[in-house]
Amino acid sequence: MAKRGRGRGGSAGAACPCGSGRPYAACCGPLHAGDADAPTAEALMRSRFSAFAVGDSAYLLRSWHESTRPTSLDLDPAQRWSRLEIVDVVRGGLLDSGGTVEFHAHYRLAGRPGTVTERSRFVRADGRWVYLDAEEA
Ligand SMILES: [Zn+2]
Repeated sequence: MAKRGRGRGGSAGAACPCGSGRPYAACCGPLHAGDADAPTAEALMRSRFSAFAVGDSAYLLRSWHESTRPTSLDLDPAQRWSRLEIVDVVRGGLLDSGGTVEFHAHYRLAGRPGTVTERSRFVRADGRWVYLDAEEA
């Protein structure tokens, strides 16, 4: 991700983009690195938002269910993901096999703020939480 340049979430002690209040290296960082698996659907959702924020498209594809995963993913480097708000969590816990997380993902694009709101569905596949799709409104 060096091509993105300096100044955004580069240092190990930087706050995690997902807004947990923990350092990236102790939050979503190990998930992106493949050193840990998300224990809950919400944790996976947070790590996917962080992956958008740090431009880790490989992690986004890896954490996508194989039945709905796109073949490739082009992230727009001009779209700066700034803040995640978790609105609702249904199941998705340690003993569940599925869950739903509703969120607002805030970004800035060309200086203008925007928000994506989605109810994402997650399932456990081979023990790992993965993103399935967005629930129809
Ligand atoms: Zn995080």
